[in-house]
Amino acid sequence: MPTVHRIHNFSAGPAMMPVPVLEEMQRDLVSLPGVGMSILEISHRSKAFEAILAETEADIRALATVPSNYRVLFLQGGASLQFSMVPMNFLASSATADYIDSGSWADKAIKEAAKVGTVNIAGSTKAERYGRLPAQSELRLTPGAAYVHMTANNTIEGTEFKRPPDVGSAPLVSDSSSDMFSRPIDVSRHALIYAGAQKNMGPAGVTIVIIRDDLVSRSGVRKASLPTMLSYAVHAENKSLYNTPAVFAIYAVGLVMKWLSAQGGLSVMGKRNERKAGKLYAEIDRTGFYRGTARKEDRSLMNVTFRLSSEALEKLLIKEATAAGLDGLEGHRSVGGLRASLYNAFPEEGVDELVAFMKEFERRNG
Ligand code: PMP
Repeated sequence: MPTVHRIHNFSAGPAMMPVPVLEEMQRDLVSLPGVGMSILEISHRSKAFEAILAETEADIRALATVPSNYRVLFLQGGASLQFSMVPMNFLASSATADYIDSGSWADKAIKEAAKVGTVNIAGSTKAERYGRLPAQSELRLTPGAAYVHMTANNTIEGTEFKRPPDVGSAPLVSDSSSDMFSRPIDVSRHALIYAGAQKNMGPAGVTIVIIRDDLVSRSGVRKASLPTMLSYAVHAENKSLYNTPAVFAIYAVGLVMKWLSAQGGLSVMGKRNERKAGKLYAEIDRTGFYRGTARKEDRSLMNVTFRLSSEALEKLLIKEATAAGLDGLEGHRSVGGLRASLYNAFPEEGVDELVAFMKEFERRNG
């Protein structure tokens, strides 16, 4: 394999993929071993793809210890379509859904749910520009809520729940788009977990949904009245093959799952991600030249958000970092500042390089 030049990619998503996975895809792209056709060419009804789909699901189940009463679905439309599918399947006209408003993506989920039914904002830090997570004691949950929706990691603001909030017996639905499989996950505390693949799990194009059987049944009740493609029950009954799924993206997720297992699984990834983010936060906190934007206790291990004393200085840092091969450090366009995304595939050496760059930048501009 010729050595290719790669820069450090701090993008929030689509984001870095493990290099061995990219290399394997490149090697097998023209002809999948034992198949003689490209993964881009094979039928989703072929034995070869059925095997890939089954193996990817099995690897996800093993990695995340998914209990047997949960289905794993491979859907399309991104996490954004889940914002609509969740209320369309589970929010009856007589009921209320609770939403924890912890960030810009939660806010988007709320807006979609409000088009479908009654939403209670169970807690919100919007007035504080989402610089912290709503505390357990601040949650005002509705008795008998249709479900409670949370955003596990707030990609734009850089906050992350260390563990899911206690929501009693209500079904907990989690948008885990930006921290799925970055650490061990207690699936049994959730009724439904969804995540676009394009941060920790693979390329864009597939959304992983882990859904408990009782929610599949609840979805089944609404099957006749929902567009077929928006029904979880339909996708569960058809084992994600109701229509043509994102064949290539699923194959790629399968390879990433094998890579994750080879790294030692989610506990090892969790420790590694803690170490990576820890190094960067330590640099941010070292003097005061840099300022973390999220409350310390709520800091995300995936998206490290910080600022400098002026926008001009931030622009300069981004420009110089890009020239030094440290790409994608610009904060989300809605909030500005800086953001370093450190998903599973992002190497620790890249963090070390960024920290060294930041020290040098401070020396010259501090
Ligand atoms: N939720 C979260 C937490 C996200 O970070 C994103 C994407 N950055 C989305 C939802 C939207 O995902 P998609 O682009 O796959 O619709």
